[in-house]
Amino acid sequence: MPIPVDPVERLSLPLALSGLAAAGPLRRAGRRLGIETVRDLLFHLPRRYDDLRELMQLANLHYVPDGTVVSARVRVTAVRVQQTWRRKVQVTTAYLEDDTGAAEATWFGRRFVERRLHEGDEIFVSGKLKRRGFTMVIEGPDFQPASAVSLLHVGRIVPVYRLTAGVSAARLRAAMREALDRDGRAYPEYLPPKLRREAAAPPIGEALESVHYPPDFEARDAALLRLAYDELLALQIGMVARRRSRGRDLAAPIAVDDARDAAVRAALEASLARKLGFEAPLTPDQSQTIGEIRADLARATPMLRLVQGDVGSGKTAVAAWALAAAALAGRQAAMLAPTDLLARQHLATVAALLDDLGIPVTLLTGSLEAKARRNALEAIASGQAPVVVGTHALLQESVSFADLGLAVVDEQHRFGVEQRGSLEAKGGSGRQPHVLLMTATPIPRTLGQVIYADLDVSTLRGAPAGRVPIRTGIRRPVELEGTWRKVREEADAGHRTFVVVPRIGPAAGSDAKDGAGGAEADDEGWAGDDELPDEDVETAWAAAAEAEYERLRGELAPLRVGLVHGRLKAVDRDREMARFRDGELDVLVGTTVVEVGVDVAEATMMVIEGAERFGLAQLHQLRGRVGRGTADSFCVLVSEAAEGTTEHERLRAVAATSDGFELAERDFELRREGNVLGLAQSGLPRLRVATLTNPDHRELASLARLHAEALVDDEGRLPADLPDLARELETGWLARVFAGDPASAA
Ligand code: ADP
Ligand code: MG
Repeated sequence: MPIPVDPVERLSLPLALSGLAAAGPLRRAGRRLGIETVRDLLFHLPRRYDDLRELMQLANLHYVPDGTVVSARVRVTAVRVQQTWRRKVQVTTAYLEDDTGAAEATWFGRRFVERRLHEGDEIFVSGKLKRRGFTMVIEGPDFQPASAVSLLHVGRIVPVYRLTAGVSAARLRAAMREALDRDGRAYPEYLPPKLRREAAAPPIGEALESVHYPPDFEARDAALLRLAYDELLALQIGMVARRRSRGRDLAAPIAVDDARDAAVRAALEASLARKLGFEAPLTPDQSQTIGEIRADLARATPMLRLVQGDVGSGKTAVAAWALAAAALAGRQAAMLAPTDLLARQHLATVAALLDDLGIPVTLLTGSLEAKARRNALEAIASGQAPVVVGTHALLQESVSFADLGLAVVDEQHRFGVEQRGSLEAKGGSGRQPHVLLMTATPIPRTLGQVIYADLDVSTLRGAPAGRVPIRTGIRRPVELEGTWRKVREEADAGHRTFVVVPRIGPAAGSDAKDGAGGAEADDEGWAGDDELPDEDVETAWAAAAEAEYERLRGELAPLRVGLVHGRLKAVDRDREMARFRDGELDVLVGTTVVEVGVDVAEATMMVIEGAERFGLAQLHQLRGRVGRGTADSFCVLVSEAAEGTTEHERLRAVAATSDGFELAERDFELRREGNVLGLAQSGLPRLRVATLTNPDHRELASLARLHAEALVDDEGRLPADLPDLARELETGWLARVFAGDPASAA
């Protein structure tokens, strides 16, 4: 087949048909990296860059500060392999020398390193420097044989890509060079000149060249800024467009008069008091949020409101108010939860809350038996079921509501815009249901303005009355005896403990944009330390959890210890969690799969091992699993991090505050770069270049916002004279961001 001359068509060609020499070797591995077309290849951006313009002599490492990425040409004098992490993950050490001195390189969990490195090898290494006493250690460096190096790979700023089995860094670099020469530099500009000027952005062709093969870091930064701006523009255009087009949609108003409002609130408060055993008036924030929802529901345009509230801030009661309001107005309401367990938990809570109002609640999940499922479907279709709680099963085509007036989506970041859309489409007859989204991920306010720009937001701050504060401490791994004693005491008192095992793979604080990706490279390739592919991370983490589970069964005997991790089938995981909830287990060991919002009132201890490897938001969320009853609760952050380090500071911040929003702000300050976990969970599409923790990028986001507001018309459309931009947004590299695909639709 002839290769099209039109550059735009060429970009969309599958690699196999592209006529690029690299197409063959890249075909299978490319797919694993998500590279299907020429465009995908061009936008497979470096994870980082190594400055190999200058090779260091080992003797000079002494003058370089810790944390600097250094490169050197060295000889391997010995290779040693040790097991750690309870023998599950191995550490490989290579002893290095050159004519001026010596150093060591260490790799964590990289089994292939030992096979690739041998005594006497001459290699280039490149990685972060870290002193251990007088020893200079290069941590998890990339390396490649000195013989295999061409000028694409050394003597310049070298792009380091995410790799996968079957494609070496060298091959990928060569493929990139070829694609850039033929199609990259000629990439048709899609930004209008005015926008490009105001964003001080280089042309896209130039940006692509410089992002892969920068002549210097200034050019690289300009290129990254351009690509970041493009992503932010796509994000904002998508949000503005969705918001404007929704303003034109119709919804049936759900009017709630004062008397009914008061009756529903009273019923909720009575139910809370019954459950808790003390008076439990709605908190001022709950009350205000309900007021906001009430005003939204009264309108003829569909509500789209996000309730953000820390774990335990009482979002369910607010949701229950809305569900009741819809039901009492004769409409149906549905509540969507991300897991079976959570849906069942909501069923119980919501049913209790709505009991006094005489509103029945129906469950629909994938695990229902055929007969129960048929009954539920019938009740939903006939309108007999005023309130339905369920999982993804609710989104299936076979589910049709008689008259859906309200959809509530819990843990909204777990669902994509599309999934939300398919629920909204169940409103029927051109009418949209009102939508209430809920999230437990606090994010800094400044950030919220950017990423929730298409939503109305209500915030629940602080915990309801009667909540016990959780005491949080930091312990070194060697100091845990007292902790385990405490776990035993708690168990004797009928309480339960979660133990979370250290995250494997790149630490949450690392700046790897793509998270854990890539894999071992082949012989000539550079092999980085933090490139374990997701499945390997998951497996290694599960193995670590299993090992810790075995160990703790001994250490804590005769306590009953359970185990959950991402490698278990969902049903088994749910069963284990249910056993923990029901008191058949005293201790639950696991990975962060324990974080999903199960409410276990008797859980009073949370032990988080390797705490420095988690993000602040995640630590906070994990901690929120305890302190849900009335008993004193504790969180132990186990870490080797030395006092005075940023890592330790971050843990101290967690120990010092129980306010998720305050913590989010603090996380922001402590980590100007890199992924703030809360951000990854905010439901924001995965941005490949833009980093909203970076103040420059936040400024760009504001600019992009202004541009988007000006570009998009009242009906949510782009002007007809920008076909190139429209194409890039709809089918180009910005499509996912534009469409609002979330980062983590699990
Ligand atoms: P989340 O916001 O994490 O979903 P929940 O809705 O599960 O929080 O509420 C957490 C706990 O707080 C529940 O046990 C609930 O019964 C309790 N709660 C909710 N509202 C109040 C209130 N106004 N006063 C006291 N306790 C409350
Ligand atoms: Mg909840």
